[in-house]
Parts: sequence; structure tokens; C-alpha cells
Amino acid sequence: MTKKQTIFSAIQPSGELHIGNYLGALKNFVELQDKYDCFFFIADYHSISGEYNPKEKSKQIFDLALDFLAIGLDPQKCTIAVQSQIPEHTELAWIFNTVTPLAELQRMTQFKDKSQNQDQNINMGLLDYPVLQAADILIYKAYGVPVGQDQIQHIELTRKIARFFNNKFGETFPEPKDLITKTPKIMSLIDPTKKMSKSHGKKSCIGINDEPEMIKKKMRKAVSTTEYNEDIYSFYASLLENFGTEKNKKYFLEQFKNKDIKFSELKDALAEDISNHFKDFREKRKELEKDPEKVKNILSEGAEKARVIAKKTMREVKEKVGVIMG
Ligand code: ADP
Repeated sequence: MTKKQTIFSAIQPSGELHIGNYLGALKNFVELQDKYDCFFFIADYHSISGEYNPKEKSKQIFDLALDFLAIGLDPQKCTIAVQSQIPEHTELAWIFNTVTPLAELQRMTQFKDKSQNQDQNINMGLLDYPVLQAADILIYKAYGVPVGQDQIQHIELTRKIARFFNNKFGETFPEPKDLITKTPKIMSLIDPTKKMSKSHGKKSCIGINDEPEMIKKKMRKAVSTTEYNEDIYSFYASLLENFGTEKNKKYFLEQFKNKDIKFSELKDALAEDISNHFKDFREKRKELEKDPEKVKNILSEGAEKARVIAKKTMREVKEKVGVIMG
């Protein structure tokens, strides 16, 4: 049997997941676990480079583990772990720091955006984030990284870092591909020119764990227009495409074609379809929440499995870099 290729991706535990995270990343994770050797991580060290409350962090980590499991990630098929439990990631990041030009990091769009959002806290971690991300991915010598569109630039940098290292120390890391879904960018509920994002506030997102009443409330407050507007139309069309029942798709796509949308009708229908799409998820999540020990065990078994590989890569890296004495 040939060895399956490796997939790595991570999400930050920094608040509730929204349907953008689902369509851009999580949905793809669930599909990939059947075909590849997958590592799905909770990127807690990444998340502390943003503003946060230390008292809330461990709950956010636990909540993201619940999301991963309830959406269908199966610890029998893939490895689920918390980044800080495998210290080799940060060790490799340090080595990568020494081969990454500062200018590469300064031009990252996410760094620029996040620096604007937290202008009183432009810390080194914010700048160095893509280097740690490269270490996360390359320590498992991943072939592919399922991410949303906003992460493509970071994966491109990961490939460069692999090249910088290989050129200096000899062929070690493969150059990973980004694996993009057919909906790699879902826009904000209140501003269809911006991506849906936790950092733009809860009103801009539909949480995958939101109750039906909440989804309906948020949808009713979402943008609409009396005239044709490309951004708004394509925003609703993508929601319909991904979550709509066949009947609703047919009915509303006709309205789209005629550029005559009854927004109040469309919004209520979409709210219902989105709620139904995540009904099983919500139920499974509530069940899992009652058994924190089970969830913690899955995470520590995942870390143990991942660490075997991470240690092996670090041994190889240290030898190549020359910090192991013969
Ligand atoms: P980060 O982008 O810093 O990893 P997020 O929690 O914002 O943290 O993103 C987690 C995943 O969800 C990433 O793969 C990201 O590309 C994807 N994602 C985030 N927002 C969207 C969106 N609006 N549409 C599609 N994918 C998204």
C-alpha cells in the first residue's frame, strides 16, 4: 500500500466559528480526512498574538475542539491536536526565523490589516505569525493545506521558507499546495465588500453554533438593496448555493435572474436552510460538551501521535543546521 499524502491545517481558538470558516476550511477538512493522512490543529499560540483575555483562552480551545468533533472530524481518521502541546512547532519557527527575510513578513496583507485593528499592540508575534504557520505545516512535511482565500499569501510564503531552508541546508521540506474550496471567501452579513470575520463583530457573522432564532434575527438585519447590486446579489447567491434546499434554489434563482429579489422572503428562507444544515452539528456538540474528559483525551492522544513526527523532523533539522554535536 502506498503511503497517503499528508494534509495540515489549523484554526485559531479565538471565538465562535462562522459559516465562512465552515465553507472556506472546515467542510473541506471533513472531506479530506477520508483520503489523506490529516492533521487538524487548534492554533492557540497563533491566537495569543491578538487581543485576548487569558481567563477565556482554555475555554476557547475546548470549544474549538467541540466544533471540530461535532462537525464530523473523526479521531480514528485524522489527528486533532493543540499547537502548544507540541513545542517542536515553536522550535522550528525559530530556525525558520533565521532564514526568512524581514521584508517578506512586512508585506503580508494580514499583518497590515491586523496591525490596523490592534494599533496599540503591534507585537512581534503578529509579524512572525506566518513563520510559525510555516513551521506548523512543514514539520509534518505536508503536501496540502486546506484554507480560505485570505490564507493563500501565507501558504505562498510557507513554500518560500521551505525553499530558503532547502537552499541553505539541503533538500528537507516539500513545498505545500493550498487547497481551496469552491467558496473560499464568504462576505460579511452587513458589508458584502468585506470578508465575514470574527474581528468585524458578531453582527457580521452567522455562527455555525447559532440557534435558529439567532440566525433569523441576524439574517433579517443583513444587507439588502432596492436596486441591482453585484456584491449583494452574489453574497446571497453563494449562501443559497451552499445551504439552500433544491426547491428554494430553484425558486430564488429565478428571482435572481430577473433581478427582482424579495429580500424578506429570501432571508427567512435562508435562515431556515442554514439552521437546518447545522441541526445535527448543534445536537452532537451539546452531547459532547457533557463529556469534557473524552474531548481532552482525544486532544492528548492527538498530541502524542503528532509529536512523534514533529520530533523526528526536528532531529533531522538540527543535524542539518549543525546544532547537534557528533
Ligand atoms: P486565521 O484566518 O487567522 O487562520 P480564522 O479563524 O479567521 O483564522 O480562519 C480559519 C480558517 O477559515 C482559515 O482557513 C481561513 O482562511 C478561513 N476563513 C476565515 N474567514 C473566511 C471567510 N469569510 N470565507 C471563507 N473562509 C474563511
